[in-house]
Amino acid sequence: ILLNKIPMPLIQINSDRKVVRQNSAAIELLGEASLGRDLVITLRNPKVIKEVDRVIETKTNSEIEVKLGEDVPRNYLCYIICSESKENLNAILLVFTDITDLIKGEKIRSDFVANASHEIRTPLSVLLGCLETLSGPADSDKEARERFLKIASDETNRMISLVDDLLSLSEIEVNQHLIPTEETDIVLGIRRAINGLKSHFTLQKKEIKINLDVSNELPTIIADDAELELVWRNLILNAAKYGDGKVDISVKLEKEFLEGNKNITLVRVDVVDYGCGIEKIHLPRLTERFYRVDSDRSRKVGGTGLGLAIVKHVVTRHRGNLKIQSDVGKGSTFSVFLKTNISSETS
Ligand code: ADP
Repeated sequence: ILLNKIPMPLIQINSDRKVVRQNSAAIELLGEASLGRDLVITLRNPKVIKEVDRVIETKTNSEIEVKLGEDVPRNYLCYIICSESKENLNAILLVFTDITDLIKGEKIRSDFVANASHEIRTPLSVLLGCLETLSGPADSDKEARERFLKIASDETNRMISLVDDLLSLSEIEVNQHLIPTEETDIVLGIRRAINGLKSHFTLQKKEIKINLDVSNELPTIIADDAELELVWRNLILNAAKYGDGKVDISVKLEKEFLEGNKNITLVRVDVVDYGCGIEKIHLPRLTERFYRVDSDRSRKVGGTGLGLAIVKHVVTRHRGNLKIQSDVGKGSTFSVFLKTNISSETS
C-alpha cells in the first residue's frame, strides 16, 4: 500500500527476472503484470531487458533511458537497483522517472541559443560586408556610401531591437513564477504604449491611425505595469507592421463562467488590424520564439520574431489568456483576457 503512494512506476523482480510486485503507477504505465511471470511479458523492451540481465549478472546498479507508452510515448530514466548481498538478489527494483519535460526543456534551450546566435550573426555579417564595401569600392562614391551607411544603421538597429527583446524575455522569465502585486489602470498603460509608439512611427515615416475604444468603466487590476505595456506595445507594433495603417483597440469587461458556480469578470483587450491576416495552420505556433510566417517580410519590417513570445509570457504570468483570430486577406484580432478582482456567486 505504501508503494502505491509513490508516484513513480516501480517494479520489483527476482534474479530469475520474475515479477514479484508492482505499484499502481507501474500498472498505469505498463498494465497489470502477472506476478511470478517473466518481466518481458510486462515490459516488452529489449533494451531494458538486456540491461536488467546485465544487472543480474554483474550485481551492479544501472540506469537506462527508455521510451514507454503506446499512444503518447514519454521518455523515462529507468533505474535498475539490486541489493548488494548475494542472498538477497531476489530484490531487484526497476524505478521509472519521467524525464520527458526535462528533455523537451533542454531541446528548447539549445534550439533557442542556436536561433538567437543565428539571428545576431545575420545582421553582423551584413554590417561587416558594409564596412568592407565602405572602406573599399564605395570609398569615393558618395551615393554608394550613403546607401551602405543606411544599411549599416538599419542592421545595427535590428540588433539593438533583438537584444532588447532578448533582455525583456529573460527578465520576464525570471519573474515567471511571481504573481504580480501592483494595482494598475489598464487603459493608462495602453495609452502610454500608444504614445510611446507615436514617435517610433514618426521616425519610421509611417502613418498609423490608432483608435482606442473603452466601453465600460473599468476596475483597476493587479498586474505588472511595465510588462503589460510591453504586451500592448508588441501587439500594436505588429498590427502596424502587418496591417494596412489602421489599428482598432477596444477594452471592455466580459463575464466568464467558471466552475464552482462562480462568475469571474475579465478585462478583454482586442487589438484589431485589417492587413494580410494569418493562415490557420500558423496560429498555434505564432507565440514560439523566432517563429515567423514570412521571415523576409518580418525582417523587412524590423521584426525580431520575439514579440508574440514576450506577449504570451507576460499574459501567462498574469494568469490571463491570449486568443488569436485571423482571416487571410482581411486582418487579425489579438485578444488579451486578464482577470479582475470582481467575482460573484451565481447559485
Ligand atoms: P516579428 O518580430 O517577426 O513580428 P512576432 O513574434 O511579433 O515576431 O510575430 C511572429 C509572426 O507572427 C510574425 O513574423 C508575423 O508573421 C506573424 N504576425 C504577428 N502579428 C501579426 C499580425 N497582426 N498580422 C499578420 N501576421 C502577424
